[in-house]
Amino acid sequence: MQKRKCIICGKPLNDGIMINGRGICKSCEDRITHAESGTDFYEYYKCCIRKAIAHHMIRGVDYNCQNYPL
Ligand SMILES: [Zn+2]
Repeated sequence: MQKRKCIICGKPLNDGIMINGRGICKSCEDRITHAESGTDFYEYYKCCIRKAIAHHMIRGVDYNCQNYPL
């Protein structure tokens, strides 16, 4: 069985939430919960979700995603 990874930080997923079959770890979930709209992390998070879901549905779509220093 393949170990799931957090779509934001890429760490192995031990807990957290699932969105469209993609996992987000507890620490990233906490950061998202406390992130305010318009902040860098919030934008990065949205970008990750969009990319993960888009990649899942449409192959070859490449979003330019700014790297967030984790
Ligand atoms: Zn994470």
